Amino acid sequence: MSTSKDGRPERVLVVLAHPDDPEFFCGGTVARWAAEGRHITYCLLTRGDKGADDPGVDPDELAATREIEQRQAAAVLGVGEVLFLDHADGSLVADLDLRRDVTRIIRQVRPDIIITCDPSNYYSLFINHSDHRAAGQATLDSVWPAARSALYFPELYQEEGLEPVKVHHVYIAGPVHPNTSIDVTDFFDAKLNALGEHKSQIKDLDGLRKRLEERMRDPHSPPDAPRYIERFNRLELG
Ligand SMILES: [Zn+2]
Repeated sequence: MSTSKDGRPERVLVVLAHPDDPEFFCGGTVARWAAEGRHITYCLLTRGDKGADDPGVDPDELAATREIEQRQAAAVLGVGEVLFLDHADGSLVADLDLRRDVTRIIRQVRPDIIITCDPSNYYSLFINHSDHRAAGQATLDSVWPAARSALYFPELYQEEGLEPVKVHHVYIAGPVHPNTSIDVTDFFDAKLNALGEHKSQIKDLDGLRKRLEERMRDPHSPPDAPRYIERFNRLELG
């Protein structure tokens, strides 16, 4: 089991924008780390209420559906806890309010490791969703320095009793400049199965499997024995 310095299981906090983001960005890593004994918490900043093209869709019903889907997907991967902050989908801005909300969650969960996404990733093959960039920026701004100083958002300490916390390991998913690969070959199916729980979003799971097999294949693995990786920019903070 992976334990932190005080002997408890290592805690991992995943902060991302929408239901299904954790599975797409880092589902294999989450499954692997949960299997290794880490306690995983998801914090989704929205409930995905704009995740449909049909103008007849009720946003509140969609959000309720997606919350259920996200909890089911998390259960597939062994995630211990799923939190929703209920900001409006499509409207995330990395302002002080969002930073305070994420700082509060970091001080409550007190993780050893945080996973978020790359705020500098505007586009590669696709245009990156503005909510993803805002979620990444707010989370990094919360890790350093807001979560670790009682002088930032003093009401969190003075009124809510939330002690500052230093997070030492940050894994940035969807990175422009990856410096770390995690082998998730043994957890590729778990990632796919978890993605399959997002039925409101994913209609062609077989097609998605083929795309992920291409995107996640370790270029150094032999063609007849492919291995699959998830890439991160890992930060080690003092
Ligand atoms: Zn998303």
